[in-house]
Amino acid sequence: MNILLLGSGGREDALAWRLRQSPACETLIAAPGNPGIARWAECARIDPADPKAVADLAADRAVDLVVIGPEAPLVAGVGDALRAAGIAVFGPNAAAAQLEGSKGFTKDLCEANGIPTAGYVRTERVTDALEALDRFDIPVVIKADGLAAGKGVTVAMTRAEAEDAVRAAGDGPLVIEEFLEGEEASLFALVDGTTAVSFATAQDHKRVGEGDTGPNTGGMGAYSPAPVLTAALEQRAMDEIILPTARALADRGTPFSGVLYAGLMLTAEGPKLIEYNVRFGDPECEAIMPRVEGDFAELLMAVASGRLADGRPVLSDRSTVTVILAARGYPGTPAGGGAIRATQVAEQVEGVTVFHAGTAERDGSLVASGGRVLAVTAIADNFADARARAYRAVDQIDFADGFHRRDIGWRELERQSA
Ligand code: ATP
Repeated sequence: MNILLLGSGGREDALAWRLRQSPACETLIAAPGNPGIARWAECARIDPADPKAVADLAADRAVDLVVIGPEAPLVAGVGDALRAAGIAVFGPNAAAAQLEGSKGFTKDLCEANGIPTAGYVRTERVTDALEALDRFDIPVVIKADGLAAGKGVTVAMTRAEAEDAVRAAGDGPLVIEEFLEGEEASLFALVDGTTAVSFATAQDHKRVGEGDTGPNTGGMGAYSPAPVLTAALEQRAMDEIILPTARALADRGTPFSGVLYAGLMLTAEGPKLIEYNVRFGDPECEAIMPRVEGDFAELLMAVASGRLADGRPVLSDRSTVTVILAARGYPGTPAGGGAIRATQVAEQVEGVTVFHAGTAERDGSLVASGGRVLAVTAIADNFADARARAYRAVDQIDFADGFHRRDIGWRELERQSA
């Protein structure tokens, strides 16, 4: 089949790498792609969030399946435009993408369907929000509604901090919610409208600094599986969270199709939903792809065409660890243009693939062109070996303007040595 992959980050490089190995994948086009993705796909310079541009390209190139990596095209209705043109899509329509695009929508859906999540109120005005704070203990969580790339959330440790966050947000839709205690883990489920199956578990590190300190980022590293999300907890999350969500969306006439990524808090009472994303996580995707067995293009096509019930996805029971190399300054203004050398040397370490997240080619050399630059991923029979391989590879890479965390997977490491 001819496949068009939308996006240009490390997540899409991992998807492209895995799709390229799939026997069913004949032609792979990426839009817009990046120098890493160009190793596996032909890159087309169009705006992936422009529904008409994507539908036109897909028609021109006789594309059988479009795989949508990032959230922006989903929320912009690229899935709708493609489905209207009769092209199979891995990724939801805009109506179902509200699970990620609107926190208020998701909270209301959870409440209406008894899906475990933090207690909450939605407010529109600063005065109402300040009043609503009386109904919550401290800490309390304040979230701007809508896509804020992780920057619209305040976990307030004092009442004063909560009030400041409300005032700073100003009038406009807010979700105020109960603080949940526990460890966070991610569950990725494939949903084809009616059937939902668990695909993978992972954990990531959002903070920029070691020991999970400093500002939030898109993610500084990840590993898969997440053993803390045991098979029993995974089943509970499927039964109590994912399946009722898929059913509720199908009942509303806006079925979900694609990957449903649940950010979970593993509380003393069981898994509770923190947030949904309607696409693979980045860098979780880089950690998951090397574990995928079988024909990946066929699997995504089965999801896109409502045939998920015919065959289960298979993931190897090996472990992966992904370490992000970021440009100095990230998550603030990253230093652009820093030279990157020896990624191929790093890939000589057994089990290692170096995915490109934010790179560009300048005069034939590789340079940094984003905040997160490379995603170094290693697979091995167990977590400790995967981690050791990943850092051995990281140490081969010459990126003077970059930095990375040395403690990716520290919780897991502690658990295993306990
Ligand atoms: P991102 O997509 O980057 O994860 P987001 O803007 O969608 O961010 P959330 O995922 O809802 O926001 O929240 C960001 C982080 O804040 C969570 O990963 C979690 O660490 C913390 N958080 C959110 N809600 C709660 C809660 N109810 N209790 C405790 N911590 C929370």
